[in-house]
Amino acid sequence: MEKTHSEALYKEACEHIVGGVNSPSRSFKGVGGGTPIFMEKGEGAYFYDVDGNKYIDYLGAYGPIITGHAHPHITRAITNAAHNGTLYGTPTKLESQFAMMLKNSIPSLEKVRFVNSGTEAVMTTIRVARAYTGRTKVIKFAGCYHGHSDLVLVAAGSGPSTLGSPDSAGVTKNIAEEVITVPFNDPENLKKALDKWGNEVAAVLVEPIVGNFGIVEPVPGFLETVNQLAHNAGSLVIYDEVITAFRFMYGGAQNLLGVTPDMTAMGKIIGGGLPIGAYGGRIDIMENVAPLGPAYQAGTMSGNPASISAGIACLEVLQEEGVYEKLDYLGSRLEDGLNNIIKNHTVPATVNRLKGALTLYFTSQKVQNYDDADNSNDVLFSKFFKKMLNQGINLAPSKYEAWFITTAHEEKDIEETLKAAEKAFDEIEKE
Ligand code: PMP
Repeated sequence: MEKTHSEALYKEACEHIVGGVNSPSRSFKGVGGGTPIFMEKGEGAYFYDVDGNKYIDYLGAYGPIITGHAHPHITRAITNAAHNGTLYGTPTKLESQFAMMLKNSIPSLEKVRFVNSGTEAVMTTIRVARAYTGRTKVIKFAGCYHGHSDLVLVAAGSGPSTLGSPDSAGVTKNIAEEVITVPFNDPENLKKALDKWGNEVAAVLVEPIVGNFGIVEPVPGFLETVNQLAHNAGSLVIYDEVITAFRFMYGGAQNLLGVTPDMTAMGKIIGGGLPIGAYGGRIDIMENVAPLGPAYQAGTMSGNPASISAGIACLEVLQEEGVYEKLDYLGSRLEDGLNNIIKNHTVPATVNRLKGALTLYFTSQKVQNYDDADNSNDVLFSKFFKKMLNQGINLAPSKYEAWFITTAHEEKDIEETLKAAEKAFDEIEKE
């Protein structure tokens, strides 16, 4: 596969941009190095790079692109919004319209606030939980990534663990000491932590379905136990639904699983591909936020008409009949196909899938927590990733990420992907 233009652009980017990328997960450090491909155009399920190569895309921009690239309804909404001015700094009708859409689909959001990224959304839920409870500590689960604010860059997964530095330099010891980390899917350890520090814990923060050490579902009863233990200790429960909101159904993972947090952070899909974040929850908690309450949070870009219009348009597409059934169906085809390939090869691998999202781990063990994912084989993943890329299949360059199917993918794309995966496994087995 021709890469000369990507190589030249990467070289140039490295001269001007730190590491040549504007988010570390875009580098190929997690797959043993190499030149990231510079994409030029996205259309539906496909990407076209600067060297004229075509790819089937499963990166989905790390989650937001659930309707495929450049969906016409969303593109129209963005251009219409731009014609009326991209940023006002005043309230607009659109913001309430979108807030209502979110509230109607995720009932625990009694009040919401729009911000500009998942990082901001999670960071603020923690501040508000601290304001509400008067406590300082936060419990999070090992390997869950909650953005790059100081407090949650402790034992974070996704980008940070790919780079082998779970604790970022520049995050002070004092801050890290406010965070207690326990393994996901392990109620016993959560109980121990709350028995010890319970009266200091403002919130237990959790991805209700993990997306950041691959797709990992909670074991039955786990989230109910999180609620019970946290509430018994007087702590709040915050769901980080930045990946999961509108990913698996029209609504949140909380709707799918029948569990209710006190606060929720969102992002990605709800911006239809433009920058956004949102947080919300119980009225008595949310009323602590400025201008009503003492917890300060603000944003020049927050609720801008372009992002809100894109978000509304994206949710409108997701309301169409059969959308989530299609994602689930294509997900099951991909999972079955991969499992068949695994069965016919000696390469150790396992698939975790929920509806239109899955992760292929190079391990024969079940993956239920971060250590399981971390123990999967880096070298095999790197080989697989590069072999898929060379056959025109774009995956995330990290063993900790998910493959996201979009409404634009079709059965023929899945078949082509499986053909490429079969060839990759054949070659890896022979090496
Ligand atoms: N929470 C989760 C669960 C995420 O996956 C991410 C991003 N990968 C974030 C928070 C941070 O979102 P953003 O990159 O928009 O700041």
